[in-house]
Amino acid sequence: MPLTRDQLADIEAARASPRPTLRAVSPGMEARLYEPVPVLDHGFVRVVDYMGDDAAIVQAARVSYGAGTKKARDDSGLIRYLMRHRHSTPFEMCEIKLHVKLPLFVARQWIRHRTANVNEYSARYSILDREFYVPAPEHLAAQSAVNNQGRGAALEGAEAARVLQTLKADAARAYDHYEAMLGQDGQQGLARELARMNLPANIYTQWYWKVDLHNLFHFLALRADAHAQYEIRVYAEAIRGMVRDWVPAAHAAFEDYRMGGTNLSAKGVEALKRRLAGEAVTRETSGMSPGEWREFEEVFGDAH
Ligand SMILES: Cc1cc2nc3c(=O)[nH]c(=O)nc-3n(C[C@H](O)[C@H](O)[C@H](O)COP(=O)(O)OP(=O)(O)OC[C@H]3O[C@@H](n4cnc5c(N)ncnc54)[C@H](O)[C@@H]3O)c2cc1C
Repeated sequence: MPLTRDQLADIEAARASPRPTLRAVSPGMEARLYEPVPVLDHGFVRVVDYMGDDAAIVQAARVSYGAGTKKARDDSGLIRYLMRHRHSTPFEMCEIKLHVKLPLFVARQWIRHRTANVNEYSARYSILDREFYVPAPEHLAAQSAVNNQGRGAALEGAEAARVLQTLKADAARAYDHYEAMLGQDGQQGLARELARMNLPANIYTQWYWKVDLHNLFHFLALRADAHAQYEIRVYAEAIRGMVRDWVPAAHAAFEDYRMGGTNLSAKGVEALKRRLAGEAVTRETSGMSPGEWREFEEVFGDAH
C-alpha cells in the first residue's frame, strides 16, 4: 500500500468525525472522501474535498434559489442539453480537490492542464521517498512501429528481464547517490534542492490538484482517451470513477456526448450522408486526408 500507517490513521480519523452541514452533499462522493484509490505500483488518487453536485449545475443554469421542484428527469435533461451545446459555465460551479501521488514523468504531462490549481510536495524542503515506478511486465512495451507517440506489444523473455533490471538498478543507484549527497558521517551535505537533480523521472511526487468540473471533463476527455499514455490514463480512469459517483447525471452526459460521441467535420457529414444514400464513398471522393479518413472509418466502419 502506498500510504504509511500514520497516513492511513489520519484518513480513518477524518472519516470518523462527520459534521452536519447545510451545503450540498453528494452521497456518492461522501462515501469516497479521503479514501485513496491505488494507481500504478506506488501511486494513488484520493478526494480531499469537493463542492457541488448535479443539482448545483442545474441551479446555476436556472439561477435559482434552492434545489427546486423540477423532477430529476428534467434536471438530467437540462444537464444533457448543457453538455450537448457546450454551455460550460454551469459545470464550473462544481469543484474537486484531489491528492495525487504520481511519477514525475506523468506529472509533466498532467501539469500541462493549466486550468487547475496545484500545490506540489517540495523536494527543496523534504527528502523524496525511495519509490520508483517500474512498469508491470504486461506494460513493458516496445516502441510502436506505426505510431511515433505510442507503444506496441510487450517485451518478452531476456529483453524484458534486461530492461526491468536496468530500470530497477538505475533507480536504486541514483537514490543511493541522492542519499549520499544529502550528507553522511558528519559531512555538511548538498542542499536538497540540488541533490534531487540526480533522480530519475520515474520517482514519485505528490500534489494537491483542484479543478472545476468543466475543466476536469476536458482533462478526462484527453487523458482517459486511448491516445493518452497508459501511465496517465490509469489516473484519469480512477478519477472518472469518482466523477461517476459524485455527479451521476453530469457524468452520464459526459460519457454519452464526449467519451462515447464523436466530432464530424463538414466533409465527414457529407461523406456520411452520401453513404446513407447508398453511394460507395472513397477517401479520394470524400476529400479527406488519409488520417481523417482512417479516423472516420474507425467510427463508421469501412465501406464494405
Ligand atoms: C495524446 C496527447 C498527446 C500530446 N502530445 C504533446 C506533445 O507532443 N507535446 C506537447 O508539448 N504537448 C502535448 N500534449 C499536451 C497538449 O498539447 C495540451 O497542452 C494538454 O493536453 C493540455 O490541454 P489544454 O491546453 O486544452 O488544457 P488546459 O491547460 O487545462 O486548458 C483548457 C482550455 O483552456 C483554454 N486555455 C487555457 N490556457 C490558455 C491560454 N494561455 N491561452 C488560450 N487558451 C487557454 C484553452 O481553450 C484550453 O483548451 C499532448 C496531449 C495529449 C492528450
